[in-house]
Amino acid sequence: MSTTGDGTRAVRAGLPEPEQYEPTLPGPVFAAHFHLSGEPVGPYTYGRETNPTWTHLERAIGELEAPGEQVETTVFASGMAAISAVLLSQARTGDTVVLPDDGYQALPLVREQLEAYGVEVRTAPTGGDAQLELLDGAKLLWIETPSNPGLDVCDVRRLVEAAHAAGVLVAVDNTLATPLGQRPLELGADFSVASDTKGMTGHGDILLGHVSCLDPRLSAGVRRWRKVVGAIPGPMEAWLAHRSLATLQLRIDRQCTTALALAEALAERTDVTGLRYPGLPDDPSYPTAVRQMRRFGSVVSFVLADRATAERFLAGLRLVEEATSFGGVRSTAERRARWGGDAVPEGFVRFSVGAEDPEDLLADVMRALDASGR
Ligand SMILES: *Cc1c(COP(=O)(O)O)cnc(C)c1O
Repeated sequence: MSTTGDGTRAVRAGLPEPEQYEPTLPGPVFAAHFHLSGEPVGPYTYGRETNPTWTHLERAIGELEAPGEQVETTVFASGMAAISAVLLSQARTGDTVVLPDDGYQALPLVREQLEAYGVEVRTAPTGGDAQLELLDGAKLLWIETPSNPGLDVCDVRRLVEAAHAAGVLVAVDNTLATPLGQRPLELGADFSVASDTKGMTGHGDILLGHVSCLDPRLSAGVRRWRKVVGAIPGPMEAWLAHRSLATLQLRIDRQCTTALALAEALAERTDVTGLRYPGLPDDPSYPTAVRQMRRFGSVVSFVLADRATAERFLAGLRLVEEATSFGGVRSTAERRARWGGDAVPEGFVRFSVGAEDPEDLLADVMRALDASGR
């Protein structure tokens, strides 16, 4: 599979060998338990441990995360279930974990939980590879690049090299990029983790997460955690996710191309400041992003004059729904400060570019911007 292109890989990922009179992608297997006589061995025993629908999806994601490699993937009920599985299966009382201080909004909750278990947590921003300074004596480094929602990028190879030299494991939250945008395991990370609720499944209708590892021992720890905690995806969600992967390259390519066009158009406007898109050549993230990313993602962020202007802009959009999350085929946008927690200005807008015709979307955004000014 390693010589095929992303589109070919996406449409074929994880498909079983063809069997006469069977569908190409077998349907979801709904089973709490499986026929199991005699010694309880074999691939499918009990539904919290294994399910054939997960197996197909896990193979598919593995083929995208590390084409041609022996990779092990574990799917979870959500991105947070996947993140917790890595951190809580690895960190022991007395260990130190390094987190970003500008990452996903639930990381402060994760920090509280880790600290409650006696794990020391250090934090630094994503930009400027600031986490490098905190590695001494740590057990695990957690990276989120591009960061959400600030879209800063850190140098994964550089951080991995320093971390591994210091005996520190590295996990990358790859949600924003998807494996078509960047492959953390190829960049040297020990864990590639994502919320597949976003661009990976892309329709805004399921929650899902995964962890991929090349090292079978690390993977076994993650898998054991899933069995213990029971953070398992339903077979229907797993099947829908696998079905959605077939269009991953089509969706992501369209979304990334339009995101760049939108960023270029916003760069021309005087009423837009703080514009960020890692694929924009004069963005601070660009020099590092081009060295490790193959596509720059569907999220563009920018700042409007104030809260009222941002609210008028969002209300004036016709093709863009006001909603949180990102990566879906329907464009969404939100004023991020409404949640609190992220260090962003009141007029900060996180815009997720969908699969609409670029000219329609850009016209809608420009019209809503014109109408939002006083
Ligand atoms: C959404 C998100 C998560 C959490 O994923 P869920 O599927 O909502 O649990 C984690 N990391 C990042 C970067 C995200 O955007």
